[in-house]
Amino acid sequence: MITVLNKCIGCGKCVPVCPFAAVQMIDKRAVINEACTLCGACVQVCPVDAIIIEREDPIHKDFSAYKGVWVFIELEHIHKKGKAAGTTIQPAAKKIRKVAYELLSEGRKLADTLNEELCAIVLTDKNTGYEKEIGAYGADKVYLVENSELEEYNTDVFSTVLVALINRHKPGIFLYPATIMGRDLAPRVAASIYVGLTADCTALSIKDGLLLQSRPAFGGNIMADILSPNSRPQMATVRPNVMKLSEPLGKAAVVIKEDIKIDKSIKRVKVIERKIVHDKLSAKIENSDVIVSGGRGMKDINKFKVLEQLASSLDGMVGASRGAVDMGFKEKSRQVGQSGTTVSPKLYVACGISGAVQHIVGMKSSDIIIAINKDPNAPIFNVAKYGIVGDVHEIVPKLIKAINKRVNSR
Ligand code: FAD
Ligand code: SF4
Ligand code: SF4
Repeated sequence: MITVLNKCIGCGKCVPVCPFAAVQMIDKRAVINEACTLCGACVQVCPVDAIIIEREDPIHKDFSAYKGVWVFIELEHIHKKGKAAGTTIQPAAKKIRKVAYELLSEGRKLADTLNEELCAIVLTDKNTGYEKEIGAYGADKVYLVENSELEEYNTDVFSTVLVALINRHKPGIFLYPATIMGRDLAPRVAASIYVGLTADCTALSIKDGLLLQSRPAFGGNIMADILSPNSRPQMATVRPNVMKLSEPLGKAAVVIKEDIKIDKSIKRVKVIERKIVHDKLSAKIENSDVIVSGGRGMKDINKFKVLEQLASSLDGMVGASRGAVDMGFKEKSRQVGQSGTTVSPKLYVACGISGAVQHIVGMKSSDIIIAINKDPNAPIFNVAKYGIVGDVHEIVPKLIKAINKRVNSR
């Protein structure tokens, strides 16, 4: 229930921020009508705390109206390659980030188990036919909000729009990517609607009709299974490369255009300029099809460098365990694992890496894993398709030689 207290001073600040035009000024006092979805945007701007929202006791709340699995579709700007550092760039066309397809693939399984719909949420200035690609990964519907204010990501605008959509359509489950955008957006939405959020899930399933959210806990030594029985939607973030992509289908999702009023004044951040900060180094390890990673077993920074040659002969990138990063063999941005990046390349070569659970969690979904370790009992061999027991300093140079010989003979 929402109430405007007598202390309202009639300033009118709550009127433009309401996404549903539910507030009117009558006799110099705010009056809220039945279009209100309890999104809370007006509460935040009232200078005298005159608006109060009282929410139902969640333990006894009826959640039967909350249905469907939602996936937030993150769009990213496409930038032309090869621009020098320091160059100012204009926002170009946008494309769907791969992680959105991964979430749709997983969301489809959850929706099928629940026998409910899978819906994609697209917030954009311009729809360029995203429903075809989204439908191919299993979505039944796309809730589309098109507005020039959605051209650039903004926490206040995006979270207000999502809260409005959630209150309007009541999804049972809402999944977000654990990307920079998703990690900013999902907690903001969760706080606005007083629901929980499980970050960085590594597995999702349905248990007794609830979303079972699994993620590493206590330094990755145990897996915690989390349920949210007392709030809806049940919300989780999942890192890129954790969920497997399904085979694309030949169907398009049904587009449902949503009309949501966006007031510019809620924006507290404005993008003034976009610049290329780095160029060559900006290549991200999670986008590489081949990763050659080294661990503490590489011994020192000079010996570690041989992995650059192996990666280059395979047209891949070099990654590292945290052990190797801590020793200064490689920069932190290349760390694979729980506190680094999650990767899922076609080929992952682990050199002198023991295979601690915190490392495994970040690379186990790679298509083919090759491990080189002198210890036959190293846990890395449990996830490797091919294991080579021996001294990495002898094996890697031989591998480079063999690969180069093969390439040159073509
Ligand atoms: P080690 O465990 O020391 O293993 C070195 C391996 O090299 C051994 O198996 C050894 O047999 C082998 N070896 C030695 N010499 C040779 C040789 N000449 N030839 C062949 N093999 C050789 N770790 C990560 O990697 N990523 C993370 O994101 C991460 N996050 C963490 C988060 C938390 C909260 C915690 C508590 C830990 C985290 N860790 C992470 C650390 C993790 O627990 C391990 O300590 C780390 O992965 C070990 O790195 P390593 O395998 O390189 O080193
Ligand atoms: Fe409008 Fe949200 Fe306030 Fe309701 S709670 S009046 S929907 S801004
Ligand atoms: Fe009244 Fe607060 Fe709205 Fe101002 S923002 S009109 S004080 S309820």
